[in-house]
Amino acid sequence: DSKPVQVKLVLLGEAAVGKSSLVLRLVNNDFQENKEPTIGAAFLTHKCQVEDKTVKFEIWDTAGQERFHSLAPMYYRNAQAAIVVYDITRRSSLDKAKSWVKELQHQANPNIVIAFVGNKLDLVQNSDVENSADSNDEASENYNQEDNSTRQVSTNEAMAYSKNAELVFFETSAKNNINIIETFYEIGIFIFIK
Ligand code: GDP
Ligand code: MG
Repeated sequence: DSKPVQVKLVLLGEAAVGKSSLVLRLVNNDFQENKEPTIGAAFLTHKCQVEDKTVKFEIWDTAGQERFHSLAPMYYRNAQAAIVVYDITRRSSLDKAKSWVKELQHQANPNIVIAFVGNKLDLVQNSDVENSADSNDEASENYNQEDNSTRQVSTNEAMAYSKNAELVFFETSAKNNINIIETFYEIGIFIFIK
């Protein structure tokens, strides 16, 4: 009935953290083990119900390579939301993500809603946890039962950073479809509360 509300959203983060895979899972419910890198940027849209509103996310999925960095302002300049992605198994990607947050907070729309997302949660979960994930009401249960040496960024550290910087925070898996729709939903909630 009511017209969808359009929300421009940009995905930022180091190459190979899984930005395109998160969007592919959201939009097509698909996952590719060897996804080809994004060149420049890709544009996709996805509609999502957020309480009584239909939100049409207009998603710019950018390339993470350093040589494309100078293009990023074109994509975040008019964005109402950003998802900054790191890979929980790669420490360097956390530092890169924090630098994107800093850049957004200085250069983007001051009201931009930023989500800080640690992807590849499946790599630190054993199969029992994966199988029981669907029956967990509390998303946080996905975080606690782990872990192994492949994790390089703890949940607590990233959560504390996100809280301090006033960011939405989730750990996700594009591979196992964990917390992706939740991330977009939460962004929608924040946009309409503001
Ligand atoms: P981008 O450069 O940030 O867009 O990253 P891609 O989406 O191209 O993904 C890079 C690689 O990581 C690909 O081989 C993906 O299959 C893999 N990948 C992406 N998301 C996940 C995930 O949640 N879990 C696992 N295990 N691998 C992932
Ligand atoms: Mg990509």
